[in-house]
Amino acid sequence: MTKAAKLTRNETLVLDALRQGTGPLTAYQILDMLRPEGIKAPLQIYRALRALSGRHLVHRLESQNAFVACSHGHHEGHRHTVIFLVCHACQTVREAVDPGIDRAVARLAEAEGFAAADAAMEIRGLCPQCQAAGVRQTDETVAPAD
Ligand SMILES: [Zn+2]
Ligand SMILES: [Zn+2]
Repeated sequence: MTKAAKLTRNETLVLDALRQGTGPLTAYQILDMLRPEGIKAPLQIYRALRALSGRHLVHRLESQNAFVACSHGHHEGHRHTVIFLVCHACQTVREAVDPGIDRAVARLAEAEGFAAADAAMEIRGLCPQCQAAGVRQTDETVAPAD
């Protein structure tokens, strides 16, 4: 997909909001950011998020019901297994990609006769900064959120 269709105004606004954000944003946080732009309805946000997700420009962080801009945007249209590194202490989320995991996921799906559309993985723990600051991994850190 070299010639991608142009984004709508709302899609561009939502994508920019996510790129400016320091972490994952929920649809309502995005809505709050975009009210000055005249966006008032959650549906406008959801519609834009769905379109952007479909183009792999935005990923959904299931555990937080929030969204992040793909940090590998130059691969627009290219499906990759999304790997999120989620820090429990400072809440930062980093996105990683690994071609080996992409291949493993594709192989696994094929072996199961499954037509995979996309895949995501969340690795929870402590980021390098928090480890350096002496934050300890606790049972609570390892347990699923909420
Ligand atoms: Zn991505
Ligand atoms: Zn951290």
